[in-house]
Amino acid sequence: MKGLIFSVKRYSIHDGPGIRVTFFMKGCPLNCIWCHNPEGISPLAETVSRINKVGEKEFSTPEVVGKLYSAEDILAILEKEIVFINQSKGGVTFSGGEPMLQHEFLLEALKGCKENGYHTAVDTSGYSSTDSFKSIIPFTDLFLFDIKHLDNARHIELTGVSNVGILDNYRLLLGSGKDLMIRIPVIPGYNDDADNMSGVRQLLLTSETGSLKKLNLIPFHKTGSAKYKKFNIPCRSGDIQPPSEQKMVELKKFFQDAGLKVKVGG
Ligand code: SF4
Repeated sequence: MKGLIFSVKRYSIHDGPGIRVTFFMKGCPLNCIWCHNPEGISPLAETVSRINKVGEKEFSTPEVVGKLYSAEDILAILEKEIVFINQSKGGVTFSGGEPMLQHEFLLEALKGCKENGYHTAVDTSGYSSTDSFKSIIPFTDLFLFDIKHLDNARHIELTGVSNVGILDNYRLLLGSGKDLMIRIPVIPGYNDDADNMSGVRQLLLTSETGSLKKLNLIPFHKTGSAKYKKFNIPCRSGDIQPPSEQKMVELKKFFQDAGLKVKVGG
């Protein structure tokens, strides 16, 4: 079996402990208005134009985004980075897109990684069947789990899907005994209001007895907007501005005051 991956990031330090290799898997069932990974949305390989500049001249060459990898290919890549991974107590992270969309391949890759002694992490929107999550829990050491909005109608408006199953999966993972890091994208004007942040804080506090390790507040950034043009997808985040540093400091304090371990950034 093979999985479709659009990027392999070596020496990654934001997707779990230590130095890691992160595999970004193609396909996402969500359609968040602030998404900065448009190359991860389609579940298919895509050919786009890459612009190369030589002096004053620009040349356009085709670039295929999405390449098939087997679990053995994944292990071979990890093997090359094993010194950094071992010395830093790092590992491997599967991200996306939404890695659960290729659940069968993900399961096979995670099993292979665990059999070879790697620390494994899955970075997920939480949108998948509960059975799929149950099947990967034994082979996953850490879940990086997004909570985007607590109000279901607003969640549907902003991401295209309901949050009901996502929150059920959050509770499942929390009770699994595996490490859990919650990630909240902070999107000014969309989910950073007091009501939503208070609701999220309440959710985290009432369920803190599980394996919740840390909360990451991820400020919106504009780096993805240039990619939309390349992929010929309308960019809907044009009018959103990154949150101010002051806003991030205030939010960090808001969650820290409730006893949560908080980090700003990935
Ligand atoms: S879940 Fe992530 S990859 Fe999927 S649309 Fe939202 S921001 Fe993009």
